[in-house]
Amino acid sequence: MQKIDLLGCTKEEIKDFVTVKLKEKEYRTKQIVHWIYKKRVTDIINFTDLPAGLRDKLTHLVQIGSLQLISKEISQLDGTTRYNFKTQDNYIVSCVYIPKLERKVVCISTQIGCSVGCVFCHSGKMYFVRNLTTGEIVEQVYAVRKDVGEINGILYMGMGEPLLNYDNVVKSIKIFLDTDMFAMSKRRITVSTVGVVPNIYRLADEKLGVKLAISLHSYNDEQRKWLVKRLKFKLNEILEAGVYYAEVTKTKFTIEYVLIGEINDSEEHAKFLVKLLDKLPKIRKFVKINLIPYNTIPEEKFIQSKLDTIEKFKQILVTNGYLTFIRKPYGNDINAACGQLGF
Ligand code: SF4
Repeated sequence: MQKIDLLGCTKEEIKDFVTVKLKEKEYRTKQIVHWIYKKRVTDIINFTDLPAGLRDKLTHLVQIGSLQLISKEISQLDGTTRYNFKTQDNYIVSCVYIPKLERKVVCISTQIGCSVGCVFCHSGKMYFVRNLTTGEIVEQVYAVRKDVGEINGILYMGMGEPLLNYDNVVKSIKIFLDTDMFAMSKRRITVSTVGVVPNIYRLADEKLGVKLAISLHSYNDEQRKWLVKRLKFKLNEILEAGVYYAEVTKTKFTIEYVLIGEINDSEEHAKFLVKLLDKLPKIRKFVKINLIPYNTIPEEKFIQSKLDTIEKFKQILVTNGYLTFIRKPYGNDINAACGQLGF
């Protein structure tokens, strides 16, 4: 019999399990949640304020986590750490702990492989295997927190397109936000999407208030179709959805733009991007732009943009009134930077 992974359950679901399936009193939920999330104990036998009989029942019916940590690689450059886990069906899932941002942040994966196929991304070169379960998403943060202590930020920017695993991602966000569980602030969670338009609207209407990052990467639809192979939405539809998200959640959304040498990084390209954004007059108020220098991946011949090219690109956006930053890469030497996760 398949055991229930409690790391994939909201508090409500644990309560239903305790009161309906186990026919126990409701306060047992609080005790179980406290052991898992506050005391960070995963061995049910050590839940010492539960009666032995209940601990026994739980041991047979539930598990707390399913991933097995198989390796941990630490960057010599910046301390970024890549955690590699094995799933119960023998796939590898990675997440990245980034200690050098202003906060301690974990970048997590949501799928095994990715079906979108961005040409500059190692995950995009993999075949798509399956969505991660809610438990497998949550456990990445749980494991890192157990290893390094408190975490102050979660980025859904690892392997996979989060909004193509919508239900499991939304449930994991609810678990991260729950004050009895991870108690994360909604503004410290960022969901990144390459632009799954209907699910951007859905996520806005969930009213969870987490931040949104949209990976745009291009200034026109034709080029984007080549860069982001298997996503049909047009740039203006994606940007409109971003503005809707920002209006509903009352927070700016981020545009992520990977700068690839001689592909999308010239001054002319920057001006095209400004033109595209200017078509939505109110967007300036709601957006900030992160420029991400391309990180090399195996079997791909793209080149990195020169530093002065990146700076010029930024200046054009800034001069036109767009709040723009250049994102520093983390964990380059251990294949943990943006676009480098793969198996
Ligand atoms: S960049 Fe994101 S959406 Fe694109 S292939 Fe990589 S993981 Fe998938």
